[in-house]
Amino acid sequence: MDLQRVQRALSLEAEVGFTDLRGREQTFSQFLQSVFGQDPPAGWILDGEERRRWKELGSRYRLYPQLELPERQHLVAETRRWLERLRRQQEQAHSAPPSPALPLPKGLSLEQPLQFLKGIGPKSAEKLAQLGLHTVRDALYYFPRDHLDYSRRVLIRQAKVGETVTLVGTVKSCSCFTSPKNPLLTIFNLKLADKSGVVTLSRFYSGRQFAQRSWQAALERQYPKGAVVAASGLVKKGRLGLTLENPQLEVLGGEGEDLERLGKILPVYPLSEGIPADLVRKAVQLALPAAALVEDPLPEPLKRQLQLLDLPLALQQIHFPKTQELLAQARRRLVFDEFFYLQLSLLQRRQRYRAQAQAVPRYQPARGELLDRFYQILPFQLTAAQQRAIDEILADLRDPLPMNRLLQGDVGSGKTVVAVAALLAAIQSGWQTALMAPTEVLAEQHYRKLVEWLSQLQVPVELLTGSTPPAKRREILRQLQTGELPLVVGTHALIQPAVQFRNLGLVVIDEQHRFGVEQRAALQQKGDHPDVLTMTATPIPRTLTLALHGDLDVTQIDELPPGRKPVHTVVARPGDRLQVVRLMEREIAQGRQAYVVLPLIEESEKLDLKSAIEEHQRLQEKVFPQFRVGLLHGRLTSSEKDAVIEAFRRRELDILVSTTVVEVGVDVPNASVMLVEHAERFGLSQLHQLRGRVGRGSDQAYCILMTGSQSEEALRRLKVLEQSHDGFFIAEMDLRFRGPGEVMGTRQSGLPDFALASLMDDQEVLQLARQAAEQLIAQDPELQQWPRLRRILEERQARLLGPALLT
Ligand code: ADP
Ligand code: MG
Repeated sequence: MDLQRVQRALSLEAEVGFTDLRGREQTFSQFLQSVFGQDPPAGWILDGEERRRWKELGSRYRLYPQLELPERQHLVAETRRWLERLRRQQEQAHSAPPSPALPLPKGLSLEQPLQFLKGIGPKSAEKLAQLGLHTVRDALYYFPRDHLDYSRRVLIRQAKVGETVTLVGTVKSCSCFTSPKNPLLTIFNLKLADKSGVVTLSRFYSGRQFAQRSWQAALERQYPKGAVVAASGLVKKGRLGLTLENPQLEVLGGEGEDLERLGKILPVYPLSEGIPADLVRKAVQLALPAAALVEDPLPEPLKRQLQLLDLPLALQQIHFPKTQELLAQARRRLVFDEFFYLQLSLLQRRQRYRAQAQAVPRYQPARGELLDRFYQILPFQLTAAQQRAIDEILADLRDPLPMNRLLQGDVGSGKTVVAVAALLAAIQSGWQTALMAPTEVLAEQHYRKLVEWLSQLQVPVELLTGSTPPAKRREILRQLQTGELPLVVGTHALIQPAVQFRNLGLVVIDEQHRFGVEQRAALQQKGDHPDVLTMTATPIPRTLTLALHGDLDVTQIDELPPGRKPVHTVVARPGDRLQVVRLMEREIAQGRQAYVVLPLIEESEKLDLKSAIEEHQRLQEKVFPQFRVGLLHGRLTSSEKDAVIEAFRRRELDILVSTTVVEVGVDVPNASVMLVEHAERFGLSQLHQLRGRVGRGSDQAYCILMTGSQSEEALRRLKVLEQSHDGFFIAEMDLRFRGPGEVMGTRQSGLPDFALASLMDDQEVLQLARQAAEQLIAQDPELQQWPRLRRILEERQARLLGPALLT
């Protein structure tokens, strides 16, 4: 069995969205069935239980084609994790003792400038500085983005058609030119030779931008005559003999480089224009012995318990690994560090915040029965998930330490009710409370709901936004100051200095990710360490939650109120337009309403506006002349926006065209169709959120994702929404397709930059790091026993905890 091949198949299957990928000879599930139908690899040591599980997987993959999407996902994830664990076990059983430390040249130190290393002159040092590499320490921590396992290299003469190989040779010649017959086609030819023969490799570039001589010359300069180059790819027959299809090229060294000296697994570093790969490799290699000088801050018992490599060894092996196994272990250790220090910081900060806070229990059940009466007037039964969320929050309120809890729940899962229960619990114990939402529309909507419920309980509530008239505003401010007003709902207007509370006990922040850190903190500071409940409908995958909000407790509402029909979702092509129009006509004729959502089309707001206005006009005049079509866009003032939304709510409009997602945070249960134009430009989670705007009642609702995109990946991505209605699953897929930065919006995410760690692939290590950090902080919050750790944290605190992480 080829373990790597199995792992590749698993990860590919996940990437394509668990479609039971069809390979050349068999489907994914057939392949796995055959893998687990055979015995485990010879030499693997498995116990009885593991053997049983191995067999069982074979039969589980037989059923794979019949499984639902989430079950498939689950099975694949479980298999990946298990195989990885087995692999590691086997390695540990067989691994050779690590190599001894390299001899340390005299005078080498971590802070030494690279320029003073033998073999690196001022010119080279300048280039390295462009990559941020100044000292020996910088070079040690400049991790490779990949490795080239050139132990799998074959000689040019041995390459066989149909195999994927790595060839290593020296450059004989190279040239880049635009085809005389086709000005759009640029060809790059590279002639490589090793002791067995010569091969010509070609790459093709299509587009005018490659026809420039300057671009071509720059490419040629990357492969000077005599340089040693590794080329990987599929061997095929070419016009000039055997060649590689679309080869991956990597410059390993300059002329006359002694490759054997470098080892069999070579690091590939992130580079920028004009910095030769071999220079970075050389600098790192010269710096490498200094790894022995790096102090390892991790406590020995922890390292032993988690079987982590020593830091100096890990630093050496991440660059020039002796074996793939050591590389994996080095990576595991360094990834652990990245997560561990972050988690320690977050937990320590939480600990300190709590220590400062005066211990005040907010919730005194004896003081009233507001909550009970609230349950009685609710027109529906709480879901079990809502009840659980409320229980967790009430427990936090009873606890003398301030609450800092994130309430996550899919769109429509009913977070508002949970928030109201929390507000009432605080109010009945005599505290003032505030609910902040990111837009006037949302604040207004909350206010409306609250008035409907709280008036029955004789609890006063007011709305404070930028559009509150001055006299009203003054009155609200006065009542907040005297403590007469127990609950205020509002926008950013709540954090102005003039807003002062007598005794603010609980703060609820809706759509928390839409607020900046300072804004959230500003509201919090209007009380003395009040309890804080933040809410989000962006279903953040659990890993991201930990990485981002390690200092928050998290509650998930993982259940929708009963009776909701899943929104019927289809990916539509421009050719389907007529059908889409028919559907909208039919629904509107039955008294329903529809949204049409346009993405940000251009970078420029002006162009967006223009296209929105044109689209609105087209729909109104040409497509739906018989209906009333409204338009919502970012340039409207908030009262204009309110007016449009109000009109839609009152059914004075049949169709609402909207440019941005923002304004669609609207609750109009009568709407039953959502048409999203250029759906490929949205993230999956964003689309899922949009879709949540329809299907709020028990009737069938429709979501049409219109796309003209030809990209297969775009279509595959959108198809996920046809199949799944699970926000968390969709968010995971989003993460897979786009990476965390984009999912969260890099600027907003506050995600720290990890040099090595991947939130998608290193979830297990993240969990380990989290647990280890929890244990350590619980025993020794100020890390008195571990001065090295403490120092590292202090150093990193400023850097890692950019302001965005202060929740
Ligand atoms: P979100 O979590 O997206 O903020 P809301 O709190 O706005 O969701 O709730 C969505 C809709 O579901 C509202 O109209 C709300 O009144 C209704 N709702 C909430 N909880 C329940 C429940 N347990 N049973 C039935 N309907 C509910
Ligand atoms: Mg909501």
